[in-house]
Amino acid sequence: MSAGGYNIFMVDDSETALGFARALLVEAGHHVEMTTDPTTAIDQMKKAPPELILLDVMMPKLNGFELCAMIQKDPVLSDIPVIMASAKAYESDQQKARRLGASGYIVKPFSMEQFNAVTQSMNSMIVSTWGVRGTLPMPQEGYIRFGGHTSCYSLQFSDDRYLVFDAGTGIKSLSNALMKESGRRLTLDMFITHPHWDHINGFPFFAPLYVPGNEIRVYGARQDDTDFETLLTQQMDGVYFPVTAREFGSHVTFHEIGEQVLEIDNIRVSTLLLKHPGHCLGYRVDHGGRSLCYITDNELYPPDSEFADEEFMGQLADFCRGTNVLIHDSTYFDTEYPRRLHWGHSSLSQVCRLAHMAEAERLWIHHHDPDQNDYDIQCKLEFCTEMLEGMGSSTQPVLPREGRSETV
Ligand SMILES: [Zn+2]
Ligand SMILES: [Zn+2]
Repeated sequence: MSAGGYNIFMVDDSETALGFARALLVEAGHHVEMTTDPTTAIDQMKKAPPELILLDVMMPKLNGFELCAMIQKDPVLSDIPVIMASAKAYESDQQKARRLGASGYIVKPFSMEQFNAVTQSMNSMIVSTWGVRGTLPMPQEGYIRFGGHTSCYSLQFSDDRYLVFDAGTGIKSLSNALMKESGRRLTLDMFITHPHWDHINGFPFFAPLYVPGNEIRVYGARQDDTDFETLLTQQMDGVYFPVTAREFGSHVTFHEIGEQVLEIDNIRVSTLLLKHPGHCLGYRVDHGGRSLCYITDNELYPPDSEFADEEFMGQLADFCRGTNVLIHDSTYFDTEYPRRLHWGHSSLSQVCRLAHMAEAERLWIHHHDPDQNDYDIQCKLEFCTEMLEGMGSSTQPVLPREGRSETV
């Protein structure tokens, strides 16, 4: 959305309905172009592509669903969010709109509050937790309240676009969830922090890789002489895993990245090199005014340590500034950390210090050591709650749990 509101294109066969909606939207600061003829709408929109398309469902010559499907196939217009508008609020119509790629559904005549609610949900992202453990899966009694799988999170955007972070064993549950949704072609961007086992060894079990028609882009850093694609696929060489990467049925591409900013549709992904053996990337996602940071594996040296790097601490705090969700490597209690110096993981007090410095809304305590059971993990939350309160911080500590989803 530009500073002056959305550039909107409306299609409705009713002059009255168009006039009513236009007056409302223009008064709220949006710019509106419109037509009553759906058969010429695509050509008109292509001359000056809008930021948002509002389509009436019931139109005689070409209905809104048909037009929506044509827009999704058009190379110029397909990325523009579409909101379907109808006097009827049938659940089946809303589902159909979603199936056809619409980003929202609104009942006419609508108020600005309703319009804003739809555009806001259109901009939302839902984070799902699939694996919170570090180093090794721990699928056993006493270890599964928060989940036994290793690192994996997904971010879903309202138009069914997914970003995936890391491919630890948790990705198997994400794979199952995605495979249940039948029919729609999947476009998915997967970001790998680094190729340690607990971040990649679920990769061969991600079933959407084998489905023709899916488009999967995988991003990560190279390590010295080994390119990123090799890092990820050499575990599928026929010796360590019987199925090789040549058997992927979907269109899979590998993208080598460093510290940079990527724009994927209207999602911004920024990266930062972390303090961990080899090259490990931290990620920040910004979309529709909300943000999430995924920072693991990363060692924050205490300020009184001879290895302290307060410049990096400041740089990382700036990178995570004001984020809504900061998922951070919180592997060790402070008492455990000295015996694990240089292992590339952080102690709780330093993670709390970072979250407070960055003014993060919520701190998600992630990457638990395999020797920590559910009770230990609960104690981590208590430690962080007390420490952040002691600092007068507004950051809320959270224990993410496998299988849970929430809006960022
Ligand atoms: Zn790890
Ligand atoms: Zn690691």
